[in-house]
Amino acid sequence: MESIIEYFSTITSAHRSAILIGGLMIFFLLENALPLFTGTHNKWKHSGLNIFFTFTTILVNFFMAFILVGTSDWVVAENVGLLQVTSDNVYYHLIVGLLALDLIGAWLPHWIAHHVKWIWQFHLIHHTDQHVDTTTANRHHPGESLFRFVFTTLAVLVIGAPMWLVFLYQSLSVVLTQFNHSNLKIAEWLDNPLSYVICTPNMHRVHHHYRQPYSDSNYGNIFSFWDRIFDTYLKVDNTKLIYGVDTHMELHETQSIGNLLKIPFSEYRPHIEYDEEEKL
Ligand SMILES: [Zn+2]
Repeated sequence: MESIIEYFSTITSAHRSAILIGGLMIFFLLENALPLFTGTHNKWKHSGLNIFFTFTTILVNFFMAFILVGTSDWVVAENVGLLQVTSDNVYYHLIVGLLALDLIGAWLPHWIAHHVKWIWQFHLIHHTDQHVDTTTANRHHPGESLFRFVFTTLAVLVIGAPMWLVFLYQSLSVVLTQFNHSNLKIAEWLDNPLSYVICTPNMHRVHHHYRQPYSDSNYGNIFSFWDRIFDTYLKVDNTKLIYGVDTHMELHETQSIGNLLKIPFSEYRPHIEYDEEEKL
């Protein structure tokens, strides 16, 4: 445990990048060997666009990192936040800290992004992908990256999270998101038990279905508990899914970086009301 704390306290940007790129490569190879959907789209063009948005996400987090580190150092020095006032036990910090960071730093802002119109305008860029795979994981508009960063900082403040825990959480979060967005065909006997603890691909995919109410479910990032607790958990047959978002299905709108960057500043489009109910 000491070595984990030591490693993540002093983790370099190079190691953090290696985790992100390594995860991306592993899941890219796995999903190409064992794909759920076999599309005829241009995978390189698709990945290129998503990697552009991954890069802007990294940039936002890189330039704002001093705020996160400053907040974490301050809560530890001043004994502020849940962990700091309850116990010094590192295992307690590890388990409660990871759970709370996941809830306040990821699940909550994701739920808000689906329920507050102007934030949805940014988040929908993530949902416009009609070929969800591991590269979709960090396809976020820079405005959303900033919004998520604010919530991560808020979570660190409320939880009193030391920096080793924040870096460990972010590393787990990167790999888990790459995993649950991957187009990997994963057997139910493996996915189902895992989905009681972590968000698995078979669980997360329905969140990318083009229609409501399916897209307003399974907001989880690392842990699957939150959707079960807050009654936003859904389980469907993944083979029937159609990825995208009903308001933005035109390819010319969703395959250009320039247009995707502009969407949050264009007119809000309400979700389409369908005559018939859809049963997946
Ligand atoms: Zn979403």
